[in-house]
Amino acid sequence: MSVRIPNTLGLDAFTDNWFEYADEEQLAACLAKAPKPWLPVGAGSNLLFSKPAVEGSVFHCTDTSWEASRGNGYVRVRAGAGMCWDDFVKLCVDNGWYGAENLSLIPGDVGAAAVQNIGAYGAEAGDLISSVEVYDTVRGHSRVFFPDECEYAYRSSVFKKSGKRYFVLKVVFKLSLQPSFSLEYGNLAARIEGEPTLQKVRDAVIATRQSKLPDPQVTGSAGSFFMNPVVSKKDFAALQKRYPDMPHYPTATGRGVKLSAGWLIDRAGCKGMTAGDAAVYEKHALILVNRGKASAGDVIRLASDIIERVEAAFGVRLCPEVETV
Ligand SMILES: Cc1cc2nc3c(=O)[nH]c(=O)nc-3n(C[C@H](O)[C@H](O)[C@H](O)COP(=O)(O)OP(=O)(O)OC[C@H]3O[C@@H](n4cnc5c(N)ncnc54)[C@H](O)[C@@H]3O)c2cc1C
Repeated sequence: MSVRIPNTLGLDAFTDNWFEYADEEQLAACLAKAPKPWLPVGAGSNLLFSKPAVEGSVFHCTDTSWEASRGNGYVRVRAGAGMCWDDFVKLCVDNGWYGAENLSLIPGDVGAAAVQNIGAYGAEAGDLISSVEVYDTVRGHSRVFFPDECEYAYRSSVFKKSGKRYFVLKVVFKLSLQPSFSLEYGNLAARIEGEPTLQKVRDAVIATRQSKLPDPQVTGSAGSFFMNPVVSKKDFAALQKRYPDMPHYPTATGRGVKLSAGWLIDRAGCKGMTAGDAAVYEKHALILVNRGKASAGDVIRLASDIIERVEAAFGVRLCPEVETV
């Protein structure tokens, strides 16, 4: 029987081979009978299905369990890959565990958060992760990855680069019991009255996101469609001469300069661009939306028109953050 694959862009995507697993044993049993290629999915909030009929088999983790253990000044939370990411953040905020609050309301599941190294308002999932338990589909057994093996970088990880070799089963997070906030990004401080608390920060993040980003329940999108590009310091110096107001940020490695993809798209005149029912979101140039009946072809055409325009204007080539399947 054909199953519709969930995806926040709202594109038609179906599979004849949909498998759900809650643990290693169930996953191994599913893999034994599943035609290749294998695609693990969460909520489909970073995926662009290029064809309605998806080849091979699609897997979804249904483990939404969690357990917590306290240490000296911290708590470790071991969460199932199928837990909704924002439920995890709410759990932390409700219990007075610090670190995840800036990542409130990011769509998707815990497993994908560890694959994508999701980030917002100066925080990244990778900074909170103390281990990732995966099933290695090449070796046919589970294994644990510790932070120095996860290769976390901007929206990247060893899991993301592995070509779907590792299926995440559980993620272990280390959260602080000591109050500490990071409010310098996205004007969060201005949205908080009085002393910050975990709940106030979560509310501020949610309010800011809701004012800027489309609600996936209402308008199809996959969040930021493109990654912020990194250019060499020499290329940046040349660009800055022409555009002194160009926003720019240091990179984690100190190599190169990170630019704002949203600013480049906006300044290249892409706001208002459409292709069929796909459009650049009017409140945020980095987001492509499905106005109702967009096909994958519409979204792909719009994305490549934007890439061309930005490259023609600035000589910088944008790379999609959204993964095309
Ligand atoms: C409105 C909106 C706002 C967004 N805002 C942000 C933001 O602020 N910051 C940010 O970083 N992202 C953001 N995103 C992108 C998205 O929320 C993240 O990439 C999220 O982690 C995707 O989760 P998912 O469960 O939907 O994963 P999917 O889209 O289903 O999958 C994403 C990737 O993870 C892999 N994967 C999924 N589950 C597993 C598993 N169990 N084991 C192994 N691999 C797996 C998939 O194969 C795929 O490669 C936004 C998206 C939307 C729609």
